[in-house]
Amino acid sequence: MHNRRPAQEKQPQKNAPQTAAAANFIRSIIEADLEAGKYGGRVVTRFPPEPNGYLHIGHAKSICLNFGLAADFGGVCNLRFDDTNPAKEDVEYVDSIKEDVRWLGYDWEDRLFYASDYFEKLYQYALDLIRAGRAYVCSLSGAEIRRYRGTLTEPGTESPYRNRPVAENLDLFQRMRAGEFPDGTHVLRAKIDMAAPNLNLRDPTLYRIRHMTHHRTGDKWCIYPMYDFTHCLCDAIEGVTHSICTLEFENNRPLYDWVLDTLQTHHHPRQIEFARLNLSYTVLSKRKLVALVDGGHVSGWDDPRMPTLSGLRRRGYTPRAIRTFCERIGVAKRDSTVDVALLEYCIREDLNRRAPRVMAVLRPLKVIIDNYPEDREEMLEARNNPEDPGAGTRRVPFSRVLYIEREDFMEDPPKKFFRLAPGREVRLRYAYFIKCVRVVKNADSGDIEELHCTYDPATRGGDAPDGRKVKATLHWVSARHCIDAEVRLYEHLFVAQNPGEDRPDGDFIVDLNPNSLEVLDPCKMEPGLAAARPGDGYQFERLGYFCADQYDFSSAKPVFNRTVTLRDTWAKIRRQAVGKAR
Ligand code: ATP
Ligand code: MG
Repeated sequence: MHNRRPAQEKQPQKNAPQTAAAANFIRSIIEADLEAGKYGGRVVTRFPPEPNGYLHIGHAKSICLNFGLAADFGGVCNLRFDDTNPAKEDVEYVDSIKEDVRWLGYDWEDRLFYASDYFEKLYQYALDLIRAGRAYVCSLSGAEIRRYRGTLTEPGTESPYRNRPVAENLDLFQRMRAGEFPDGTHVLRAKIDMAAPNLNLRDPTLYRIRHMTHHRTGDKWCIYPMYDFTHCLCDAIEGVTHSICTLEFENNRPLYDWVLDTLQTHHHPRQIEFARLNLSYTVLSKRKLVALVDGGHVSGWDDPRMPTLSGLRRRGYTPRAIRTFCERIGVAKRDSTVDVALLEYCIREDLNRRAPRVMAVLRPLKVIIDNYPEDREEMLEARNNPEDPGAGTRRVPFSRVLYIEREDFMEDPPKKFFRLAPGREVRLRYAYFIKCVRVVKNADSGDIEELHCTYDPATRGGDAPDGRKVKATLHWVSARHCIDAEVRLYEHLFVAQNPGEDRPDGDFIVDLNPNSLEVLDPCKMEPGLAAARPGDGYQFERLGYFCADQYDFSSAKPVFNRTVTLRDTWAKIRRQAVGKAR
């Protein structure tokens, strides 16, 4: 499944997908349709979010698929807000969704639509259904309608209002629109078959009364169309050819087709279902994401631990890495869970190629080079990215007092610890060999306060002319020159692979990882990082990839978020946990 082939540039070209990696069953369907001359050789897709939350990585799969297929076949993809439920929707969500789709790298050009744009047309279609005797106003309560619906094993019961005359239905429906009735008193239902094995066809509700202000249409409407009625008609109106949605809509397809066939719309899109993305250690349902935000378990929709696109962006994920991920996971007909490690692999791979390397010390320990003159300082040449010779070099200042990482020193090291220890020599990256000669401890606590070392001037640049070797190379910063910064270390938000699984109440909050955020302050960074702009990504040598926070950022005290570690340490932790459990 993991295709490691580099993504090629996609050029719009009919009938000729550019990448084998992108081959999938939907592509085959489209190819066959084009071959058969269906839809006049056009491909029109759409991405149809409901503006009731922020987009997440699962939506990215759908966005990449819809926009990607359209581009590959020389077609177009619309952005359409499915805004038929004023109770839960908001312009804040509309704005964030537009921003996120654009950020991912897709362009709907002038094709930004709203289901609410079609409210009048949809209403006219509803009247058509009533006139054709295929819809009726039902005055049962919601609970009664559910009861009359029957079960998977028992047929439903027909509503006593099912045979209302057309004229009465027209009158009632028009008065529903005019606001004459309170919420819940009447609905408009399709007249299909109360004994249909597919429950969606047992006279589904098409319209309900909601006296509620809509974020776009205001108080113009007090009846709102249901998803199943709206979606297919919006697709038809827009000339969508392939209406791609997730598997849970498979049982809605007969209704999708019923509405279009019954109304004999000039155009009949084809609905195709694919498996939604599930990610380990993550929840991807908007209901659950809302609960995380509202419950204060995260700082907001764009908390860097959230699987939302705004969270991933703030965490330091690039659109390119997310698109690569979506391509690699492929498109299938069966639900499965993708290991979040694959997502991390994709961002690591992208940043490895592009992120400039810098030195930053997260848990500083002071080192004094006894034989380095107090007033001296020098600039040492450091490579910006060994993966990219074009990235050039920079100069980092060196002086007598430095900081190294606390965990790079052990007073009494075990056998496999090769870093600094009393009497031992190591290399400071791009600088000199140093040797630890003395450890200074706090008289009361016994904590190590500073190390005294000597350096070998002959090893400038990091190599000994006499050919002697050291077993470790440490990163460091010069105390006089470095800047202070706050660093936020993130881990997975959940400790359970499938949060809430196996709990009768489905409670996923109990699976939150109490250690998903660790704040380190002050960290010491090489001075060049004072020029970091919000969102800039770096590799902190030996530590991982980090990015300057978009919001909590000032040049006086920058904040860096850890995007991902250098290696998959999480896999190791999991393996250990599994080992222990055995
Ligand atoms: P959620 O289940 O998270 O509440 P939703 O399906 O209600 O999501 P919509 O705004 O209706 O959210 O989704 C817009 C589009 O994105 C739909 O076509 C939907 O099928 C698709 N989508 C949503 N979640 C995923 C997912 N996890 N994987 C793939 N596609 C998804
Ligand atoms: Mg939905």
